[in-house]
Amino acid sequence: MTATGTISEDDIRRLFARIDASRADLVRLTQDLLRFPTINPPGADYGAICAYLGRWLAARGGAVEQVRAHGAPDDSDAFPRWNVIGRFEGTEPGPCVHFNGHIDVVEVGLGWTVPPFEGVVRDGRVYGRGACDMKGGIAASLIAIDALLACGLLTRGALEFSGTADEESGGFGGAGYLARQGCFDRTRVDHVIIPEPLNPDRICLGHRGVWWAEVELTGAIGHGAMPFLGVNAIAGMGDLLALIEKDLMPRLGNRVTAMPCMPEGARRATLNLNSIHGGQPEPGDGRPAPVVADRCRLVLDRRYLVEEDFADVRGEIVELLDRVKATRAGIDYSLREIMSFEPTMTAPDAPLVKALDHWIEALFDRPATLIASPGTYDQKHITRHGSVQACVAYGPGILDLAHQPDEWVGIHDMLTSAKVMAAAALTLLHA
Ligand SMILES: [Zn+2]
Repeated sequence: MTATGTISEDDIRRLFARIDASRADLVRLTQDLLRFPTINPPGADYGAICAYLGRWLAARGGAVEQVRAHGAPDDSDAFPRWNVIGRFEGTEPGPCVHFNGHIDVVEVGLGWTVPPFEGVVRDGRVYGRGACDMKGGIAASLIAIDALLACGLLTRGALEFSGTADEESGGFGGAGYLARQGCFDRTRVDHVIIPEPLNPDRICLGHRGVWWAEVELTGAIGHGAMPFLGVNAIAGMGDLLALIEKDLMPRLGNRVTAMPCMPEGARRATLNLNSIHGGQPEPGDGRPAPVVADRCRLVLDRRYLVEEDFADVRGEIVELLDRVKATRAGIDYSLREIMSFEPTMTAPDAPLVKALDHWIEALFDRPATLIASPGTYDQKHITRHGSVQACVAYGPGILDLAHQPDEWVGIHDMLTSAKVMAAAALTLLHA
C-alpha cells in the first residue's frame, strides 16, 4: 500500500482502519436509503430521502442545501424534484472533490424473492431496489467522506456530496438542474466521482452520445378500395427502412471509437428502430377504417461516438429522408428531435483517473480496467452543462444487477470501493 505525495502511509492505514470499523454503519446507512421507495417515475419520496441525507451530512459538520428543481420536467407539488448538497471545507484552500449519486430507482418489476424496500441483509449482501444502482454507491461514498473527516484528513480543499433526482429519466430535475445552477462549475469543483455500479475495479471514463428523434412521413388519405388515389405513408416508411438497413447500418458498423466502451459492440455507432406507428388508429371494436395511411411515424434511438459530429448524425438521416421524398411521389416528411446529449469522456491520464487507478491497483493487486458506457448517465450534465473537466463513474455495484429483480450490493465491495474513493480523494486534495 504505497502512499503518494504528501500523504503518509500512516494516514492511509488510519483511513482504511476507520472504513473497516464502519462496516455496521455502512450497512445501516444502505438499509436506511433502501427503505425510501424513491421510484421514478413518478419520483416518489425525494423530499424524505434528501432530508435524511441532509441530516447525515449536517451531523458531520457539512453545510447543507436542499434544492428543489422548480420548473424542471415532472416537478410538481405532488412529486417535487428535491436534491441535496453538502460541503465540508478544509482549513487550507485547495481543490474540491465531489461525489454525486442519484437518489431515484427504477420500478420494482416482477420476479423478486425478497421485499424490495426493507434492506434485507443476507450472505454479505444488502438486497433491495436500488441497492446496486446506486444507493450502495451513495452509502460507500458517504462512508469515505466520514472516514476522511473522522481521521482529521480534510486539512486542505473541500469535499462535497450531492444526492440528485431523476437520473433514470434523464437527470433534468437532478444533476442537470444543479449543473445549470453552477453547482458543477470548475471554479468551485475540480473532480467528480459518480458511484454508479460499474464494478469496484473498473473506472468509467464517460459515455457515447445519444440522439432520440421522431420522423414522420406524410402521404395522402384515400379510399382503401382505391389506394391508387392516395399516397401511402407506410410504403414510404418501407423505403426509408430499406435505406437505413442497406445504406446507413453498414456505414455505422464501420465506425469504431477509441473509447473503451463495454460491451465491445458499443464501440461502434448504433441505431435502434425504437417504435413505428402508421395509419389511422383502430377504433374500439378493432376494425380498421378502409383508408390509405396518410401518416407513419418512426422513433429513432441513435447512439453516437465521441469521434462523430452531431450535425453529421442528424444530416445522414435527413439525406435518407430526402431520397425517399425524391423517389416516391407525394411523400413528405418532418423530423422532430426528442432528446440529445453529446458524448463525453474524461482523459485517461487525468489526475482523477490516475488517483482512482492507483488505489484500485493497491487494493486489487491489478490495474483498474478503464471502460466507457454504451448509454448515458449524469456525467453529461456535469461536464457539458457544468464545466468540470474531470468526472468519472466509479462505484461498488455489479453492473449486470442494475434494474434486475433481487438487486443487491456486496458489503465487501462497498468497503473496498469506499477505501478507493477515500484514498483517491485524499490524493487529489493534496495534489
Ligand atoms: Zn444508476
